[in-house]
Amino acid sequence: MKADPFVQLRLLDLQAVDTALGQLAHKRSHLPEHAEITRLSAGLDSITGERASAQAEVDDLDRDIKRYEGDIDQVRQRAARNQARLDSGQGSPKELEATQHELTSLGRRQAELEDTELELMEKREAAQVVVAEVTARRDHIATELQAAAARRDALLAEIAAEEEKKQAARGPIALNVPADLLALYEKIRKSSGGIGAAMLRARRCEGCRLELSGGDLARVRTAAPDEVVRCEECRRILIRTGESGL
Ligand SMILES: [Zn+2]
Repeated sequence: MKADPFVQLRLLDLQAVDTALGQLAHKRSHLPEHAEITRLSAGLDSITGERASAQAEVDDLDRDIKRYEGDIDQVRQRAARNQARLDSGQGSPKELEATQHELTSLGRRQAELEDTELELMEKREAAQVVVAEVTARRDHIATELQAAAARRDALLAEIAAEEEKKQAARGPIALNVPADLLALYEKIRKSSGGIGAAMLRARRCEGCRLELSGGDLARVRTAAPDEVVRCEECRRILIRTGESGL
């Protein structure tokens, strides 16, 4: 393949832009924020579950306390009815004695129920403290996650703007390279880690970093300036410049 030496030099400009674009793509997929967001999201999921369990415990206790309150209320009403009956003095002495007896046991029953209710209320208070603590931790993680997402978005926007600039610069450079040479460059770039064209600097291929010697060096040295030469080692397009040491 043949190409004007000046056109060949443009491949180095193209390579510089493509290398920069490759670095931007790498930067985009390797932002530390990605890992941080994954970690924080998992943390948020886990603490959201933790909070739901803690809240369920409070809700269970609320339900129990309500039930006890209903029971206590019933006992109170029944005791009030008994008290009224006693106060009225109606009924036989035997009946009044039975009513008095029931009133005493209702009083005991009410005290027991109230003790248990008090225990439940204390448990509820402790469970509510856990909910508050877990909620605070959840809110903290949510804030951190939001901040990390905002940082990631800002960095992605920066990268996109940078890419846009590079793409804009790439267009006119690529236009100056003949289609067959561009196709070869692209083909090599795809199969050779993103580098299709490399400068020959001080007899060293900057693509594979190997020094040319013997027959290879002689072949490159004697090739016509418009001959497109390739590195024997890495097959990349070798661009000769005043620094090639030929
Ligand atoms: Zn090479």
